[in-house]
Amino acid sequence: PSAMREVMVQVPNVGWDDIGGASEATDKLREGIELPLKNPEAFRRLGIRPAKGFLLYGPPGTGKTLLAKAVAKEAEANFISMKSSDLLSKWYGESEQQIARLFARARAVAPCVVFIDEIDSLVPARGSGQGEPQVTGRVVNTILAEMDGLEELQSVVVIGATNRPTLVDPALLRPGRFDELVYVGTPDKAGREHILGIHTAKMPLAKDVDLALLSGKTERFTGADLEDLVRRAGLSALRRLGGDVTEVAAQDFEAALLDSRATVTVEME
Ligand code: ATP
Repeated sequence: PSAMREVMVQVPNVGWDDIGGASEATDKLREGIELPLKNPEAFRRLGIRPAKGFLLYGPPGTGKTLLAKAVAKEAEANFISMKSSDLLSKWYGESEQQIARLFARARAVAPCVVFIDEIDSLVPARGSGQGEPQVTGRVVNTILAEMDGLEELQSVVVIGATNRPTLVDPALLRPGRFDELVYVGTPDKAGREHILGIHTAKMPLAKDVDLALLSGKTERFTGADLEDLVRRAGLSALRRLGGDVTEVAAQDFEAALLDSRATVTVEME
């Protein structure tokens, strides 16, 4: 049985407005990807080459996938997303074929952003059973060869993401490969307030809900944690008021806070 995955091309529907508290990462992606994909002529005139590979790193749930989708949408590019583990096949040659198909598809639908999640799993993990060293080595080499072969201004950009940057194969980080490193950390207080605003935009809030106050009570929460908090507050209102519920109140956020905590610890940061 083949483990080959279909290469699906998406047109993402999230943009910069859907992202809060990641302004440094957003700025880097706007400048490094959106600008060159939208203005290839300007780069050609100046004789400079845009970067081909970006590595997003940081704790889980901080919006790395969201950023990759948003930059594709804002650059009016297509989006192809794969997990590294989907590229690893124990069948000889199948991983290479899969990667070749991935890049062929990306070139065919360029401009295109290729997102490879869990890029750290391409490092041979000893004794883990997963990722035989020979397979992962070949996969890394095949990806690098594909990236080396991407002609400048071919309008295909690769974004890798990892929670564990120290495990990323150093060969991936050489110039001309994933040479732009972008840290995506937990949001600060202002960022948390912004994210809470985004995730409550469609939720009717009672007058006593104070997002600034809530942002102060959610230290080290990621975007994903905050989204979950909002969902739990909605569920609390529903439980409290039943089917006639019309709005979510401060007490629902307080109840939700009792069930929530930051997934990121101080050490992880
Ligand atoms: P992982 O490392 O686990 O893949 P990730 O960093 O890619 O995580 P996402 O999958 O992008 O995180 O985030 C999960 C969800 O959390 C998003 O779909 C979004 O709803 C919410 N979220 C995360 N970060 C943000 C943010 N900065 N602004 C708004 N929403 C966010």
